[in-house]
Amino acid sequence: MDIQVAVPRAAIDAHRDEIGAAITRVLDSGWYILGAEVEAFETEFADLVGAAHGVGVASGTDAVELALRACGIDQGDGVVTVSHTAGATVAAIDRAGALPVLVDIDPATYTIDPEHLDRTIRAIRTGQLGDGSLRVRAVVVVHLYGHPAELGAVQQIAAEHDLMVIEDCAQAHGARWRGERVGRVGEAGAFSFYPTKNLGAVGDGGMVVTSDPDVAERVRQLRQYGWRQRYVSERPGMNSRLDELQAAILRVLLPGLDAANDHRRRIAEVYRERLSDAPVILPGEPADPTSTHVYHQFVVRVAERDELRARLASEGIGTAVLYSAAVHQQPAYEARAPRLDDLPATTEAVREILSLPMGEHVSVEDAHRVADAVNDALPSGGPR
Ligand SMILES: *Cc1c(COP(=O)(O)O)cnc(C)c1O
Repeated sequence: MDIQVAVPRAAIDAHRDEIGAAITRVLDSGWYILGAEVEAFETEFADLVGAAHGVGVASGTDAVELALRACGIDQGDGVVTVSHTAGATVAAIDRAGALPVLVDIDPATYTIDPEHLDRTIRAIRTGQLGDGSLRVRAVVVVHLYGHPAELGAVQQIAAEHDLMVIEDCAQAHGARWRGERVGRVGEAGAFSFYPTKNLGAVGDGGMVVTSDPDVAERVRQLRQYGWRQRYVSERPGMNSRLDELQAAILRVLLPGLDAANDHRRRIAEVYRERLSDAPVILPGEPADPTSTHVYHQFVVRVAERDELRARLASEGIGTAVLYSAAVHQQPAYEARAPRLDDLPATTEAVREILSLPMGEHVSVEDAHRVADAVNDALPSGGPR
């Protein structure tokens, strides 16, 4: 492919010397797990988000699981999330021992539909959905593709039904919801530093951010065998640690996050302008001017998606489909995740979504070339 859909090494190559120096620093320190680099990165990342605490963990999946467990989610509790998300969100709910309850998206934002959330919770409360014994205790909001979810409406519903709100920010590092960075609005925010994310390491990594000192302390214990004091397991824990090498590399990349997101937004603007007459549905921008989309993905909806994909590939342009099947369509979950209906907005979206190339490796000229190719491939019937 001439223009790939994502190139994690672009960010690494842009900081190659500094990253080399950071790696040497860790090697010379002789300390490889939970040391000065992790501690510094936890503080620096939590500061960026505006949360009081950051706790580095081994992955984004672990960050969601440990955030839920630290907030007190227990065996058999119900945790609501969207079906249109990475399977990881639901795997984490499962690992926390909870039952995932799936709700639909607002197709304008690809994030949780508060109205469907409200109806689902009411149906569970009244025994219309499930057997009446399920206790729903939390909602995991996913800022999918980098678009901040409608946290205000979700918080209102959560307050009414006494639910905790956990934010899955794995695709939205640096995004803002009404001026605030995502991750600081709910009880806890979970981030992934998987290489393709807006802030990516050269391996796995994740972080839980929170302003609740008790939640932070519990995540610290859970990530290392339930220890507060070395060798004393106060609670059952696990091994989920961020290592010093990843933390040192992430510290090099963190100061450039906003500029990298600005570049993504610039590319999105080119796509938006150039595809305004194409028969595609463009991604929505948040209605509130102080909210920002950070375009982890630039997703269009096209009726003849697979044909367009093949045509672009033949012209050297890579695309992706995130995700070609929703969670409720996955063999692991289709029979196990209660839901009110067949989630029509989600089911329709997954048939048509297509991610165009996005990231630091995409130049403005590249974006024009991609837009030209899309416009050439599709009949100009005007916007959908
Ligand atoms: C990537 C991702 C995760 C999982 O992160 P890992 O670091 O791969 O475990 C969770 N949720 C969403 C929405 C993601 O995109």
